Amino acid sequence: MTAVFEKVLIANRGEIALRIHRACREMGIHTVAVHSTADANAMHVRLADESVCIGPPAGRDSYLNVPALITAATITGADAIHPGVGFLSENSDFAAMVEDHGMTFIGPSPEHIALMGDKIAAKDAAERFGIPIVPGSSGAITSPDQALKVAEEIGYPVLVKAKAGGGGRGMKVARDPEGLVEGLVMAKNEAQAAFGNDDVYLEKYLDNPRHIEVQILADGQGGAVHLGERDCSLQRRHQKVLEEAPSPALNQTERERIGDIAIKAVREMGYRSAGTFEFLYQDGEFYFIEMNTRLQVEHPISEMITGIDLVREQIRVAAGIPLEISQEDIRFQGHAIECRINAENPETFVPSPGRLSDYHAPGGLGVRVDSGLYSGYSIPPYYDSLIAKLVVHGQTRNECLMRLRRALEEFVIDGIQTTIPLHQRLIGEGDFINGDYNIHWLEKLLSGKL
Ligand code: ADP
Repeated sequence: MTAVFEKVLIANRGEIALRIHRACREMGIHTVAVHSTADANAMHVRLADESVCIGPPAGRDSYLNVPALITAATITGADAIHPGVGFLSENSDFAAMVEDHGMTFIGPSPEHIALMGDKIAAKDAAERFGIPIVPGSSGAITSPDQALKVAEEIGYPVLVKAKAGGGGRGMKVARDPEGLVEGLVMAKNEAQAAFGNDDVYLEKYLDNPRHIEVQILADGQGGAVHLGERDCSLQRRHQKVLEEAPSPALNQTERERIGDIAIKAVREMGYRSAGTFEFLYQDGEFYFIEMNTRLQVEHPISEMITGIDLVREQIRVAAGIPLEISQEDIRFQGHAIECRINAENPETFVPSPGRLSDYHAPGGLGVRVDSGLYSGYSIPPYYDSLIAKLVVHGQTRNECLMRLRRALEEFVIDGIQTTIPLHQRLIGEGDFINGDYNIHWLEKLLSGKL
C-alpha cells in the first residue's frame, strides 16, 4: 500500500503534536516535528522521524513563525502540513501559503477558514445553510444607539461579542442600557488588544444553556458524516474543563435532528476536513454560536464512541480521497469523558510549570492518555498549561464515571501541581453525576455559590 503522503510536517507542539504523529505512523507516513528551543526535549520531537528547530521559545517566534515553518517543510521535503489546534490552525493566510508552496494543508480550504473566522460572516452563513442561530444584531454594531435599539428588540440580558473572537475574549454581558453602553466600550477595547480588530456584534444572552457541539467530517466531494455531539458545558472563564459524549441532556431525536442539520450544511458549503458546529442548547432549542474549522482538543471522546480516527480521516480527505464511511456505518457505542489536565494550582489556577520528578499514566480497558509527559521532563513556562488529556470510555455513563474515578486515582504527576484534584472533586458532585449542569455550573461550584 502506498501512503497518502510521504511526509507530514506537524506545525504544533505538546500532546496534539504527538497525537498527529501517531496517526501518521499508523498510516506509514514519515513525520517532521518542529520545535522551539524550549521544546528540544519534547516527546513529539523524540518520536518524529526528523525535527527542525524553528526559533526561540515565544510562540510568535516559533510555532506562529510562518516563514520558519514553510522553510522547515521545504528543506525536509514534506508534502503536507498538519496545523494541529491553536497556533496557525485557523489562519487562512497560512493555509493559503502552504498551498502556494505546493504542499497540502491538512484542513479545510482557506476560504472556509476565513469565512468561519469572522464570527459575523459565520452566523450569516449558518443562517443561510439552515442552522438555527442566537437572535442578535445582523452584522457589526456601528453605534451605541444601534446597539440599544437591537437590545430593546431582542430583550436583555444581551452579550457583546467580538467578530474576531476566540478563547472567550472580547465578551461582555449587559443587563440594562447603561451596562450595554459600558460593555460596548470594554468589549471593543479587549477585542482590539487581543485580535487587532474592534468590530463587535450583539447576541441575546442565554441564561442557562448547555454548550453542545457536533463533530462533522466531510470530503468536499459530497461525502459527509457526523460523529454525534459533545457536551462541553463544564467551563471556567469560557474555557472547557471536562467534556463528555454523548450529552446527558439530549434524546435520540434531538441528536439526529442537529446531526442532520450539520451534515446538510457542510454538504452545501462543500466543506472538506473535520469541523465542529458549536451550539448553545436551552429549553430544547439549539442556537449556533460558531464553527471551528479544525481538530478540537476534545476530539478523542468522539473517537472513543465511534471508533473513528479523526486525524487519519482528516489526512485522507486532505489528500483528495473520498470518505469511505457513510452515516449508516457509524455505530455510537457507550459513553466517553475527557478531563483536561493542566499544570496549574487546582484552586487558584495559577500555572505551575517545572520538572516532573515522577510520572505514571493510568491504563487498562477503556483508558486513553494523550500526553507528551515523561518522568524527568520539564514543562516550559511559555505555552498553554494543558499537559495531558485523560479520556475514558465505558459501556454506560455510570461505568465511564467509575472508570474515570479509578483512572484519576492511578495518575501520578509529581513535581508540579495539576488540576487532577479538581477533576476528582467534580466527578464526586451529585449534579455532575446526574448530568445536571449548564455552562455556569462550574463557576458557581468554584465560587461556593451552588
Ligand atoms: P469563543 O470563540 O471566544 O470561545 P464562543 O462564541 O465559542 O466564543 O463562546 C464561548 C462560550 O461563551 C460558550 O461556550 C458559552 O459558554 C458562552 N457564550 C457564548 N455566546 C453566548 C450567549 N449568546 N449566551 C450565553 N453564553 C454565551
